[in-house]
Amino acid sequence: MTAEFEYVGLPYRIVFGRGLLARVNAEVARLRRSRVLLLTGGGLAELGDRVENLLGPLCAARFDGAALHTPVSVTEEALRHLRASDADCVVAVGGGSTTGLSKALAARTGVDQIILPTTYAGSEVTPVLGETAGGKKTTRSTPSVLPETVIYDVELSRGLPVPIAVTSAVNALAHAIEALYSAQANPIVDGWALDAISGIGKGLRHVIGEPTNVEVRSDLLRGAWLAGMCLASVGMGLHHKLCHVLGGSFGLPHAITHTVILPHVMRYNSSATSEVMWRIGGALDVPDAPAGVFDLIKQADGPTSLRELGFDFGSLSEVADQVIASPYPNPKPLTREGILGLLTQAWYGVRPARGTRGH
Ligand code: NAD
Repeated sequence: MTAEFEYVGLPYRIVFGRGLLARVNAEVARLRRSRVLLLTGGGLAELGDRVENLLGPLCAARFDGAALHTPVSVTEEALRHLRASDADCVVAVGGGSTTGLSKALAARTGVDQIILPTTYAGSEVTPVLGETAGGKKTTRSTPSVLPETVIYDVELSRGLPVPIAVTSAVNALAHAIEALYSAQANPIVDGWALDAISGIGKGLRHVIGEPTNVEVRSDLLRGAWLAGMCLASVGMGLHHKLCHVLGGSFGLPHAITHTVILPHVMRYNSSATSEVMWRIGGALDVPDAPAGVFDLIKQADGPTSLRELGFDFGSLSEVADQVIASPYPNPKPLTREGILGLLTQAWYGVRPARGTRGH
């Protein structure tokens, strides 16, 4: 049977390499812009200073207040800086939080964006913007939030502390894994996904022992970019839905939640996606993909249970209810009982070997 698929390319410019931060002024000039609003987030002030020095007179204003889940109140404050400084371009240096703020400004003003990611979240290549106001998260997808340019400088991610690097990399891995069983899967995205999985797998194996090794960080960052492209191109399934509920309604931290949940969703879906799991196992060089991902996380000292995150066991049924009430498309049909079984395994942190109870 000939598979039918659709693929739409996205229009940004990507530059990837080592020491590319120094190119930031040239990239501003390439866009014919001359007044930059520099954005960073918590804990990255020193990096912000470096970029501000590099930008020199191009830097019209700076805002260091990016925060997790893009609160609208923070965006409004940054918007005041953008307008007061008459900036014609944003340079955002940081993780998904800083990228989110940059995209929120672009959604409101159409301002040009140059993004320099320092984590593996992948948001910089997706048309998705999630924002929070009054404790509620809303998400929209529009090409107007896509940046003009993304500069991936491996050097910037070398300083990312190992525990954050591990959970951020598994967050990226989840984009690639769910892309392979997406209803919109296509050969281009499959290629990116498998390349991402193999690079992230290699990176996760070595990041603990050699945290500042450029090759290790390069594997992770390149994998994160490709995984971000997967997230941008095809719909995600049960894993992303569960993480949105756990993060959005129960306040669990983004990348850490992805890390705990991923192997268990893989096990849940494995009976309906045996060929995909076989391909993932091949990319990771493990015999069983769900257990292999769990082992990778454990070896990298990542979190493996909802219990260790302090999540209340009694709230699991509420999570299952919310997932069932507005599910994402998923290769295996969703049952409340099945999801509750998966969440129970994730709460205890059971290794999801073949035949694990509850799936
Ligand atoms: P983050 O940006 O908050 O960064 C995590 C932590 O790492 C922060 O404390 C930050 O200060 C620190 N950090 C970042 N880079 C560092 C470095 N080089 N050295 C030292 N510390 C560093 O979190 P994140 O996980 O990158 O992104 C999560 C956010 O991104 C969430 O709000 C999530 O919803 C969003 N996201 C959106 C998309 C999308 O497509 N819209 C995709 C993925 C994530």
